Amino acid sequence: MIAAAAVRIIGAADELTALDQAIGDGDHGINMKRGCEQVLAELDAIAAKPTGEAPKAVGMALVMKVGGASGPLYGSGSLFMSMGKKLGERPATIELLPEVFAAGVEAVAARGKSTPCEKTMLDVLTPVLEAMRPGEPVRAESLRKAAARGAASTIPMRATKGRASFLGERSIGHMDPGARSSQIMIEALSAFLEQRT
Ligand code: ADP
Ligand code: MG
Repeated sequence: MIAAAAVRIIGAADELTALDQAIGDGDHGINMKRGCEQVLAELDAIAAKPTGEAPKAVGMALVMKVGGASGPLYGSGSLFMSMGKKLGERPATIELLPEVFAAGVEAVAARGKSTPCEKTMLDVLTPVLEAMRPGEPVRAESLRKAAARGAASTIPMRATKGRASFLGERSIGHMDPGARSSQIMIEALSAFLEQRT
């Protein structure tokens, strides 16, 4: 699943860069591509790690290589690192996904001092988390739809966090690049879940 997500992000690098050119500094695609290439380079080592250590290693690779605001948010102290910590020594099962993903999303919000509706990756991550209903089986299609809606919802928003916030009103009318990269990762997760069921 990690490999599939990395390959998708690398394939979307130009699109992510174009989105960041509109409302940021145009490096999001390059940043994420560099991080994901590092993840692919370390894939065997990551796969060999005991359960919770694997997401932590992904987070570490991302924070070392991504740079930019998105590196620490996806990486250390945030999304992947916190998911690994939450998973701990338990086997990674789909049943644990809502709990583990919640820890990751909370960490992004804490690290970014951000909430939904500020035109960031949280506008994808939060609705996806809400689509994972506790006690109910996780449905790939619900995650995919929540992510697509979340990414689209950032278009009319005015950014109040990150570099895009410097543009004020001029940030309106463009999809947030981090929201789009999060959506792409959720696409990979959904495809993975569908293959397994
Ligand atoms: P930078 O903004 O430093 O150039 P990137 O271009 O790699 O870094 O990443 C930009 C993305 O990071 C934004 O599109 C947004 O989704 C996300 N982001 C930036 N600041 C925050 C924040 N405080 N909270 C959540 N996400 C953020
Ligand atoms: Mg940028």
